[in-house]
Amino acid sequence: MEQTDKKGYRGDFPVHDEDVKAKFKYEVADMVGGEGLLRCLKCGACSGGCPVGSVIDYRPRKVLGNVLLGLKDEVLSSDQIWLCAACFTCEERCVQQVNFTDVVTVLRNMASREGNAAPGYVKMAEMVMKNGRVSTRTGLVDKMREQLGLPPLQDPAVDQLVGIMQAAGLTDVIDANKKKEVESE
Ligand code: SF4
Ligand code: SF4
Repeated sequence: MEQTDKKGYRGDFPVHDEDVKAKFKYEVADMVGGEGLLRCLKCGACSGGCPVGSVIDYRPRKVLGNVLLGLKDEVLSSDQIWLCAACFTCEERCVQQVNFTDVVTVLRNMASREGNAAPGYVKMAEMVMKNGRVSTRTGLVDKMREQLGLPPLQDPAVDQLVGIMQAAGLTDVIDANKKKEVESE
């Protein structure tokens, strides 16, 4: 039986042939931001300097290793790809210019299209659709802006934003994630 941790993130072995999608790494490398993937040497410098990995079980090298190995379903359904804080430390350290932060964005986009987006991201997208912002405008913010001599916040053009989101396919992505959420209940 396969060994998985509580996040559903499998240990290194065993890897079964049926789980390996050999073209996965090329799919990722073909996307904008994924181009550096195939240069990865799995040296581990990214994991060694990752501030998130220093406090929780998160290893960029392991994510990269699984992508290179072709474990598509595992990578795209794991919460690991949602743990990156986009601090770019790994990109500074990587001698191969893999640009892991961009690679992880590609993986998140792929996962989102399959309905596997992290719930917090779906909620943020819904907030933008509803209010034009990821947070609610409060009187406190208005007051602080006034005290700081900043101009009043303009109300966003929500209709235009929603139009852009629809044209970009984001509303379809939100629907796919909500549908999957309902199915899993
Ligand atoms: S992304 Fe760069 S630093 Fe990380 S394992 Fe690959 S080559 Fe090493
Ligand atoms: S960008 Fe993400 S993976 Fe890279 S060091 Fe920062 S938190 Fe870790």
